[in-house]
Amino acid sequence: MKVIWNSEIVERSEVRIDPEDRGYQFGDGIYEVIRAYNKQYFCLDEHIDRFYSSASKIEMHIPYSKEELKELLNRLLVETGVHTGNVYLQMTRGISSPRNHMYPDAAVLPMLTGTMTSVERDADQMSKGIATIVTEDIRWLKCDIKMISLLGNIMVKHEAHKRNAEEAILHRDGIVTECSSSNVAIVKDGKIWTHPDGNLILPGITKIVWKKCAEKLGYPVIEKPFSLDDLYDADEVFCSSTTIEVMPVCKIGNNVLFDQVPGQVTMALQKAYLHEIEKQCGK
Ligand code: PMP
Repeated sequence: MKVIWNSEIVERSEVRIDPEDRGYQFGDGIYEVIRAYNKQYFCLDEHIDRFYSSASKIEMHIPYSKEELKELLNRLLVETGVHTGNVYLQMTRGISSPRNHMYPDAAVLPMLTGTMTSVERDADQMSKGIATIVTEDIRWLKCDIKMISLLGNIMVKHEAHKRNAEEAILHRDGIVTECSSSNVAIVKDGKIWTHPDGNLILPGITKIVWKKCAEKLGYPVIEKPFSLDDLYDADEVFCSSTTIEVMPVCKIGNNVLFDQVPGQVTMALQKAYLHEIEKQCGK
């Protein structure tokens, strides 16, 4: 399979990563996951903008223009022949040898890699929803940076897995932030609540799209912190991310929200989201 390696598209077997690459040693890097449907990327500009924004927050210089990155990504899509799937794009701060915490000087070039995987939409799961657990948000205070050091996220996801759930809903002192790999929202009396952007959550691209859908459908969106009590009291709960789109939550711990039919606001958003995909990427 072809992959992106710095400014080129090469066979995966040709890629060499130095053991002193800062991504490998420190988790010093950023990433994006971008979905493609029907050989077209969805929300590519938004993902590229967030990639640049993450880079600037850690003073990492991306030695490519946005146009060059988009062109590389488009070439990857063509050369891999993937129809519907995900690209994982990662940039680390490159090699600092010998190992040293301090950022290396500007002459050290970052390391860019991008891999493409074929993945269909999981319409079945989207109609059934996912089970979740609730656990403490043990991560740091710069969750707005889409960085590759994901140990906090991985640990809570693993906890969810051990408890037969797909996702972990996180809270800080009783305030719901987001999930291990998605944003979360609740529906109460026809209104949608979700945590505001800021340093405690990742500003989701999927959230931008479903907020637009909610506006069109006439559902008010309230971006204010809400509590665990609000979560348990909600009419509907859904998670959102590039890979799971608008995903109903059917269970929170042992608390069953629905066992057959997800809530109607969630399903209306899911349908409208698919419509946005079809508008950008075709049917
Ligand atoms: N929060 C976290 C912690 C995530 O990992 C993700 C998925 N990358 C999201 C939210 C959703 O972001 P997006 O909609 O841009 O995929």
